Formats: sequence, structure tokens, C-alpha cells
Amino acid sequence: MAQALIPVAEARARILAMLTPTAAEPVMLANAAGRVLAEDVVARRTQPPADLSAMDGYAVRAADVASVPARLRVVGEAPAGGAYGGTLGEGEAVRIFTGAPVPQGADAIVIQEDTERYGDIVIARESAVPGRNIRRAGLDFKEGVTGLVSGRKLSPADIAFAAAMNHPSLFLHRRPRVAFFSTGDELVRPGMPIGPNQIVSSNNDGLAALIVEAGGVPLDLGIAPDRRETIRATARKAIGADMLVTLGGASVGDHDLVQSALAEDGLDIDFWRIAMRPGKPLMFGRYRNIPMLGLPGNPVSAQVCALLFLVPALTKLQGGEATAPHTTLARLGAPLAENDRREDYLRASIDHVPGEIPVATPFPKQDSSMLSLLSAADCLIVRPPHAPAAEVGEMVSVIPLRQH
Ligand code: AMP
Ligand code: MG
Repeated sequence: MAQALIPVAEARARILAMLTPTAAEPVMLANAAGRVLAEDVVARRTQPPADLSAMDGYAVRAADVASVPARLRVVGEAPAGGAYGGTLGEGEAVRIFTGAPVPQGADAIVIQEDTERYGDIVIARESAVPGRNIRRAGLDFKEGVTGLVSGRKLSPADIAFAAAMNHPSLFLHRRPRVAFFSTGDELVRPGMPIGPNQIVSSNNDGLAALIVEAGGVPLDLGIAPDRRETIRATARKAIGADMLVTLGGASVGDHDLVQSALAEDGLDIDFWRIAMRPGKPLMFGRYRNIPMLGLPGNPVSAQVCALLFLVPALTKLQGGEATAPHTTLARLGAPLAENDRREDYLRASIDHVPGEIPVATPFPKQDSSMLSLLSAADCLIVRPPHAPAAEVGEMVSVIPLRQH
């Protein structure tokens, strides 16, 4: 089964090329944050709908207040949500509040702080300039313009904007359903009775959390013992899902049965070995028309590979723009030896010094079974294949893992 190791970027591109976004569904704004638009959002109204006052004060004719103090007669009132029905004549003013329509004939607002009021008379102490303190109709947006473009992941500001455009709901790509299971005779769910030779399955819950964070719906199919029939029976429960992820059983050991079990049951493998560390035995293909990702069983490899491949896959399935994980620059806090042909993702801490580039220090141990270190890591240092030895202080790319 000798096969060349595939570079990380190529593996990701091949996975993404196989995926098509889920169908659109209408979603109320309250549930839309963080999801991806399946259609452009066109403004259903003009905002503001009319020229509105930006301040509390008096609507005036600027010409009447060219020299100050100016004395004006207050002829009416315009609250927000109301309006003054008449037209402002020479020497007249209308008491106006923020958000109220500017009356006909008025072309400026004198703010309340610059006035004195005596019954029906108002004295303006500051001169007015035409247009001042008025928000023109359509200042924010006009009916018919495309405010938000399909494929955009919705921020809270986007949700507010969509509401302002008068959309109570939006068409969004359905959250992708990701079925997954672990394989291994040694595995037991957390909290369940456990034998001396067994270990707790951490991958199921870790992957479910990652899927939720990436916008998907996790369907946990449990743990399949290392038997072909059980692996097949478990995989079949994934039918109807948008994606299947297997955990473990993906390398070349005698008990690594996922590939051989499913090959007899509708699995077409695209590739299965990647030039990266942790996580060489990554597998991708189609199981009965469902895109299938086989992640390594080692818990750190499973999480890192999920971050590099499954998260972009979920972004694409949701109609978003799938990319490699975002990287930033850091200075090395410890020297690194020359890298081999596998792209390396080193667990590291980050120290922030105000005004300086942060310092990323790789942990001395990088064993891909050590969840304590993955949990403690602030970032992954990315080392390209064959990177030369690096000294303290050299710049490296890092993938941030958590926000402080
Ligand atoms: P495998 O890929 O099945 O050869 O597993 C590689 C290593 O990861 C073995 O030490 C397994 O015991 C361990 N492993 C596999 N699946 C899990 C899991 N779900 N949770 C924790 N460790 C696992
Ligand atoms: Mg195994």
C-alpha cells in the first residue's frame, strides 16, 4: 500500500473540491448569528426613510439664523415617530427630537444646548448651516441595494443590518450534519465501567465540540469495536448525514480496519496519507456518496487534523469561504531542529508583551497522545517540510488555538 505522502494544502484542496454546500433554509434572525448566507440580502426599504433630525433641538431655516442671537417663533413639535404637518415659514421654528422628520421648509437643526426658550419664543445663540444635524433620507442605505452578499458569515452587526433592511428571517445554508464514530476494542465512554487494559475515549466528545464550534451538527455514533462487521454496521448509520468522520483504525496496523471494512461496503478512497505531524494516517474518500474523513485515533492528531481539514470542510458545506486556519506571526521562544519532510504542528505556549511580537515557545514534549499539552497549548507552531533549524527569536507562523 505504499503511496506518496500528500502535502497538507493539497489534501485540503482535494477535500474541499469534493464538497458542495448544503441547501438553504429560512432562519429567523434570532438564530442566524454565525451562520452563512445562502442568498444576497436586498434592502426592503430606504434608511432613514426621510430626512431626520440627528439631535434634539429646533428645526429652522438656516437663513433665519445666519446672524445670532436670532429670535424665532415656535409653531409646533416633531417627536420621533411623529411629524410636524405644516411648512416652516420665515422666522419660525419647530421643536424637534432625535429621529423625527425634518419639517418642510426647514433646512437645519439648531441643537437644544444652543437655545433659550421663552414660551412660544426660542432664541438661537449659534448660527445654523444648511444641512447641519440632518440625516438625509437614504444616508445609511437605499431600497433595492444589496446590503449583504451570499456566502457571508453573519456577525452581530450583519444581523442588525439585516433587521434594519426589514428582513425578519434570512435564507441560510442548513447546518451540516456530521456523523462520526471511534473504533477500538480498548475504548470506553467517559464515566462508564472500564477494564485495566482500556482507555477512555476522548475523541468522541472532543470532535463533537469542534463540530459545534465550526457550525455543524454532531451525530455521535459511538464506539465500534475492531471488527469489520461492527464498523460496517456503524458506518451505515451515517446514511443521510452530510459527512462521515471515523476516528482511529486508519493506519496500517493489523487492527486498523476502517479502510478494509468499508472498502467492501461502498467506500472510494481518494487519499489516505499526509505529510504532516501529528496525523499521518488521514484518509479521505466517499462512503456511499457521503464525503468521509478518516481521522487518526491519537487524540492530539485527531483534534489537529480536524482543525486543519474538517473545519474548512464544514465552512465549505455551509457555503462559506473555506481556507486554511488563520495564522499569525510569533518569535520563537526555544530553538528548533531542522524539520523532515512532514509539515509539523507543534503545541506551544504564547507570551504576550505589549507592543511586541508575541513569543511562541514549543513544549518540550510533542507526543500525539498528550491531551494535557494540547489543552494547555495557546497555539500550534507551523513548520513547513524541510524547514531549517531555527534559533530563539526567529519568526514563525502560528495557528492561535484560544482567545485569552
Ligand atoms: P489507531 O488510530 O486506532 O491506531 O489509534 C491510535 C492511538 O489512539 C491508540 O493508542 C488508541 O488507543 C488511541 N485512540 C484511538 N481512538 C481513541 C479515542 N476515541 N479516544 C482516545 N484515544 C484513542
Ligand atoms: Mg485502533
